[in-house]
Amino acid sequence: MLSAARLSRHVLGGAVAVVAALAVAAPADAGHGSTVGSPGLGDPYFPLAGNGGYDVRHYALDLDYVRAGNHLDATAVITARATRVLTRFDLDLRGFTIGSLRVDGAPARFTRDGQELIVTPRRPLRAGHTFTVRIDYSGEPTEVVDPDGSSEGWVTTGDGAFVVNEPQGAPGWFPANDNPRDKATFDFAITVPKGITAIANGRLVSRRDHKGGTTWKWREDSPMAPYLATATNGVFELRVSRVGRIPLYHAVDPVEVPSGAFDVLATEAEVITFFSDLYGPYPFTSGGGVVDHAPEVGYALESQTRSQYDSTPGASTVVHELSHQWFGDSVSLTVWPDIWLNEGFAVWSEWIYDERHGGPTAQESFDAAYARPATSTFWQRPPADVGGPAFLFSSPVYDRGAMTLQALRTKIGDRAFFGLLREWYAKNRNGNVTTADFVRLSEKRGGRDLHAFFDTWLYQPTKPTTW
Ligand SMILES: [Zn+2]
Repeated sequence: MLSAARLSRHVLGGAVAVVAALAVAAPADAGHGSTVGSPGLGDPYFPLAGNGGYDVRHYALDLDYVRAGNHLDATAVITARATRVLTRFDLDLRGFTIGSLRVDGAPARFTRDGQELIVTPRRPLRAGHTFTVRIDYSGEPTEVVDPDGSSEGWVTTGDGAFVVNEPQGAPGWFPANDNPRDKATFDFAITVPKGITAIANGRLVSRRDHKGGTTWKWREDSPMAPYLATATNGVFELRVSRVGRIPLYHAVDPVEVPSGAFDVLATEAEVITFFSDLYGPYPFTSGGGVVDHAPEVGYALESQTRSQYDSTPGASTVVHELSHQWFGDSVSLTVWPDIWLNEGFAVWSEWIYDERHGGPTAQESFDAAYARPATSTFWQRPPADVGGPAFLFSSPVYDRGAMTLQALRTKIGDRAFFGLLREWYAKNRNGNVTTADFVRLSEKRGGRDLHAFFDTWLYQPTKPTTW
């Protein structure tokens, strides 16, 4: 994610919301022997995000959306595997009326409690059993306001919706196990009025006009965290190009976005080639980006294979979001407080891109960021411990996160450092990671104890002076 005005946006508002969010105790693990799936996965910032007891393999989302009235008629079929015997389990869903809910084809009882959709299948699910949940639901998709005051989820625009979910927007438009550690493949069938284009993740499978409108089918065949799903729709011009064997889908709102946006998106091919050489092969089987007019959103998001831009991005924003395809989307967080593993890597990726393209060196970018005086509040929020969900996207996560990587580069040398980044990606592709994993691999690659180094850069609320 990258906000044009992140320094101010993420500081505004949210103080009250933070208190509310933290007041929700982490759900107790239902424990060994329990047959009730837990309502959350205990994330320190979003304790109720995601649910325990099962692992989603696939989402098939059939969405019928009309902007006039902002009405969504939908069916979600979720294929999941029970990780223990389950007499009951939760999904995350905000709002909507549920018309029917079936587990393995049989009607199941359900209740609602906030964003928890609590499902009791007719018969207990055996541990290891792969089951399907089919949910018919309808109503108004819900926009979510985050602890930092920003909007996400299904954000309506003049002609459709701009759909971005980081970190908790997904349950505003589909039932999910909304946690980055439960990644799954996705199929989308999105029906919209004729003349409207619906753009989801992955490859375009088909587009069919019929009496009821146009149905756009997309398929993302690599595992994806729910927050990276999209279904942005509206009036768009869609162009398809390729980089190697990867199709790139570029969509621009031709009415509200000034011309020139396609030229910016066209730079993606070179950026993908650059990062493929630097980090390892591009993670997914498609790519691209969408430029919409969504001024109330105020940021861009690295939705998997399909970066979402609320307005025409600058060149460095395209570089930032594309680097997230490696770091953030393919190599995913396990818990949200480790967000620097996404944003620090993306900003450092901007720096190295500049360095290799005749711009400032990464060290010069480091120096400029480091020049903030020691008295600046910037130094008070260390990137791996920013102090709560309202500060998830605050500037230290980005800039001090990137500085951590550049400082590591100078400490262990280019050879070890670039090898480390390649191994980090190769080892964790399609997986989930923690800061501790990165520290461990850095020590292995750097051949030394780096505990004090990372403690200084990631956890101390002061300006690092020696490292
Ligand atoms: Zn970002």
